[in-house]
Amino acid sequence: MESSNERNARHKKAMQRKKEHVDQRIAAATTDKGLVVVLTGNGKGKSSSAFGMLARSVGHGLRCGVVQFIKGQWECGEHLLFSQHPQVEFHVMNTGFTWETQDRDADISAAVSTWEHAEALLQNANVDVVLLDELTYMLTYGYLDADRVIRVLSERPAHQHVIITGRNANDRLIELADTVSDVTDIKHAFNAGVRVQKGIDY
Ligand code: ATP
Ligand code: MG
Repeated sequence: MESSNERNARHKKAMQRKKEHVDQRIAAATTDKGLVVVLTGNGKGKSSSAFGMLARSVGHGLRCGVVQFIKGQWECGEHLLFSQHPQVEFHVMNTGFTWETQDRDADISAAVSTWEHAEALLQNANVDVVLLDELTYMLTYGYLDADRVIRVLSERPAHQHVIITGRNANDRLIELADTVSDVTDIKHAFNAGVRVQKGIDY
């Protein structure tokens, strides 16, 4: 049987090889650029991850903008925390869930006027990070013109990061993005009859 010394020596060698590999990859990544990060999929964790990046950015003193394209039933903690923050400009679409309004024309006009705020942020070189929460639905439902959204995203200031959340991200958004995560739904407490919980869900 392998002695504990042999086991430790083997571990050390494997870790050295891993470190060499990681160091090489870190040394090869030398570019800085404004990123488009898309968080999609049916699992929980898209908006909360996006707001996690916003918290990091604010912590580093970056100037941020948030546009939420769907207003939830519950006042979310992120809005309570960030909307008063001097480094954050925060806009929320002034209608409820799309399946609650059930009025396509009203939804379109709300989406278009909310997008104006996004566009202003995406054209402002003083803004470092833009979070477009639940934007994907505006393209899925055809509320916003995909050509215009893609063009404005592509023409934004070169250093500006954009984070986009929502299920079923449009193929063109995925193509444009630098980083895309597909959050998988393995299980969710809601399906076991647990109602939304403050701090975890909103
Ligand atoms: P979070 O804001 O918690 O990161 P999310 O942005 O990934 O969630 P959304 O589709 O925007 O997910 O839904 C927001 C709300 O719906 C949250 O309260 C979340 O807990 C809940 N939710 C998310 N995914 C699921 C799911 N698979 N089943 C049931 N409820 C979900
Ligand atoms: Mg969300």
